[in-house]
Amino acid sequence: MSPSTPARGDRGKGAEGGGPVAEGSDECVPDGSFDATARVVDADGDGDERQVEAALRPKRLDDFPGQDRVREQLDLVLTAARRRGTPPDHVLLSGPPGLGKTTLALIVASELGQPIRVTSGPAIQHAGDLASVLSSLAEGEVLFLDEIHRMARPAEEMLYLAMEDFRVDVIIGKGPGATAIPLELPPFTVVGATTRSGLLPAPLRDRFGFTGHLDFYDAADLVTILHRSAGLLGLDADEDGITEIALRSRGTPRIANRLLRRVRDWAQVHGRGAHADRVTAHGARTALALFDVDERGLDRLDRAVLQALCRRFNGGPVGLSTLAVAVGEEADTVETVAEPFLVREGFMVRTPRGRAASVLAWRHLGLAPPPDAQGMWSATLPIDDAGGARF
Ligand code: ADP
Repeated sequence: MSPSTPARGDRGKGAEGGGPVAEGSDECVPDGSFDATARVVDADGDGDERQVEAALRPKRLDDFPGQDRVREQLDLVLTAARRRGTPPDHVLLSGPPGLGKTTLALIVASELGQPIRVTSGPAIQHAGDLASVLSSLAEGEVLFLDEIHRMARPAEEMLYLAMEDFRVDVIIGKGPGATAIPLELPPFTVVGATTRSGLLPAPLRDRFGFTGHLDFYDAADLVTILHRSAGLLGLDADEDGITEIALRSRGTPRIANRLLRRVRDWAQVHGRGAHADRVTAHGARTALALFDVDERGLDRLDRAVLQALCRRFNGGPVGLSTLAVAVGEEADTVETVAEPFLVREGFMVRTPRGRAASVLAWRHLGLAPPPDAQGMWSATLPIDDAGGARF
């Protein structure tokens, strides 16, 4: 892969295989049909999807709904730099996948009226990969480094110097006879994006003069985004159809746009009369039920985990590996694919004794919580989100 090729599709996303329970069933039998990397509610986009997404990306800050604070701060930083006629501070964007980091990086370049070079941490495995990108940058150019936390350590060290002093040391030769030849670079701006800002070494984090953290979107912002996307796709959309999709989108524009495309497919194939070629609440409900996305955005795996917790383990707490066996998945898949959303939405809690279902989970499955579950795991218990602990 060339160092300047974005590498989105190569993320390790845990295991596949196994199969969760069918809705309404109390058995959790693996059927080998579930592919955690192909979920319609997966916040990571693959290579093909990125092309479709390009058409839906806002091009200017004014056209970018949501993330008000980051947007206003960035606006200030960019406007001031434009007035001074110098490149702005380096920008670090952090937050979960699908929230708009790449979109904002492209916006930074277009607001500055500069070209952008796109690469990613996994594509930079040697300092030489980075040196060749850096040495070909033009003055003022924006360098977008996606997944910057996955860059190789020697390249990171080269990047510190380049960001601070606009200089790289090119090493000629090997061993004791090696010499470093300093190469001056024209001023440029790095926009780094990361889903794991905690993994960035402090010296690298300190080189960014501006850091923006993106949060999940609320339903109102997703409604705005979906209306805009529907317009770009040439679709008529009812307010309640759009709202129906927004509520199932897990706070993530990438998922919202993907669900919108599935609803469009339904409207084009099955829509008749008032539903023809139009996003309606009925069309959204029917299409998304077909893709196993329920009214809170949970998919089959999410529901299988909750079903197992409530029906098989009476609400828990139960150890992660036991829970994973019950749904026929790898522990990693349950922990990284289903759990973050279930915990965030208060369906599941992580306790010192294992995973437990909240009262909300019981209700969501249409089950009566046992009397001793009432309030016991009421979604407000301390969450151990250190990520490493397993019970
Ligand atoms: P990330 O880089 O954080 O994974 P992207 O910037 O690639 O996310 O965004 C994924 C998709 O969601 C793109 O199609 C993009 O247009 C859309 N999107 C993200 N944020 C917004 C937003 N605030 N407004 C409109 N669309 C957005």
